[in-house]
Amino acid sequence: MSKTRVYKLAQEIGISSKELMEKLEELDIHVANHMSTLDEEEAELIIELLKDEKVDDLNDKKGELAVEEDDDNIPKIEIGSKISVQNLAQLMDKTPSEVITKLIKLGIMATINQEIDYDVAELVALDFGFKTIKEEVKDETEELIKIEEDKPEDLKPRPPIVTVMGHVDHGKTSLLDAIRHSNVTAKEAGGITQHIGASEVDVDGKKIVFLDTPGHEAFTAMRARGAQVTDIAILVVAADDGIMPQTIEAINHSKAAGVPIIVAINKIDKPDANPDRVKQELAEQGLLVEDWGGDVISVPVSALKKQNIDTLLEMILLVAEMEELKANPDKKAVGTVIEAQLDKGRGPVATVLVQNGTLRVGDAIVAGSVCGKVRAMINDKGKRIKEAGPSIPVEILGLSEVPQPGDQFVVVGSDKIARSISEKRKEKLREEQLKATQKVSLDDLFKQM
Ligand code: GDP
Ligand code: MG
Repeated sequence: MSKTRVYKLAQEIGISSKELMEKLEELDIHVANHMSTLDEEEAELIIELLKDEKVDDLNDKKGELAVEEDDDNIPKIEIGSKISVQNLAQLMDKTPSEVITKLIKLGIMATINQEIDYDVAELVALDFGFKTIKEEVKDETEELIKIEEDKPEDLKPRPPIVTVMGHVDHGKTSLLDAIRHSNVTAKEAGGITQHIGASEVDVDGKKIVFLDTPGHEAFTAMRARGAQVTDIAILVVAADDGIMPQTIEAINHSKAAGVPIIVAINKIDKPDANPDRVKQELAEQGLLVEDWGGDVISVPVSALKKQNIDTLLEMILLVAEMEELKANPDKKAVGTVIEAQLDKGRGPVATVLVQNGTLRVGDAIVAGSVCGKVRAMINDKGKRIKEAGPSIPVEILGLSEVPQPGDQFVVVGSDKIARSISEKRKEKLREEQLKATQKVSLDDLFKQM
């Protein structure tokens, strides 16, 4: 642009010649009429000025629109994360050149077929009096995963999944050991419990599943990934120490997850054990135990001397019964990865908890963005099994890569579907990562102007 006439410049920036002449006056640039010529410097100056005003203006408009969110009079257009200039113009019933002109005012040079970001499109649309709604990006993999609805008559009782929480050194690990040990010696003398991340315990023919990783870190890490695998929380409180910071955290996490708490008052074998003090402190935290007139079950135990472990297990079953935990064993499995690692000899190994349906050897599976075919399943006793129903933890072999703890897994119709879902999810992950690194914010854009 070397020299331009007033009316041409006005056209270009989308205002009337009269308005432009007023603006020029403000800048001390005097012109005789709309046919007068402006030199390059003058033209640039006026474009700059209008841009700044426009930005303020648009920000004001955005603010106004934000408070009138539900105003039905504002026409709305739905756009995705990107839209071409042409399509945006079409949605608003404008010509592409009108849109391009607005973009120029925002300092963006775009051609008719060029794609612009949602943020930018939003500004342009606002300027034309349209409110934008961000299109929900639909998960293409959803169509490939068909999780059948459960009819009430299909639901059968399932074992409770239990997490042990509490302050450090209050005896979480000892309690888990005591529970497993009592179980092993009673039912299968000499049996060695293999560590797979969770264990099944048998109480008079009824099962309880314990997650091996104690503490609320694992619990919250899972929840952060959208997985809730715990049905009941056992809160371990040492009778000689009472409620401590991590005890309170554990209480809060259980409450947030809506998981019932059973209190195990541990170390009652110790001479300075004071279970009453623990109950008092629990009451201060809003947990009123049964013998204090509340509804929280508490059991005095000694993990070290293996005292009262049976009672604790009975109480877990009682609470489980009240919770009416149910699942449908007669469909394809869905569940959560609770542990995963790369094994030198066996490749990727994952411990999963089946939460609904039944998992079988040979099933095509997707876990997070990883796919595979279940080649073998091993239970917590180290035994190879062919199928695992609801609440059952199993180690599975046959995944292509190591999934993440907290990832959901789902059995799908075929290997091909599993691969396709995995590819789509990986693609999405890559896109998200790319976006995170390349994203130029609207603020950056304005800074450059
Ligand atoms: P965690 O950090 O909560 O897993 O606690 P641990 O299970 O590692 O136990 C911490 C310490 O307390 C260990 O030295 C245990 O031997 C001891 N301990 C655990 N339970 C009992 C108990 O019932 N009685 C006694 N006297 N000591 C216990
Ligand atoms: Mg421990």
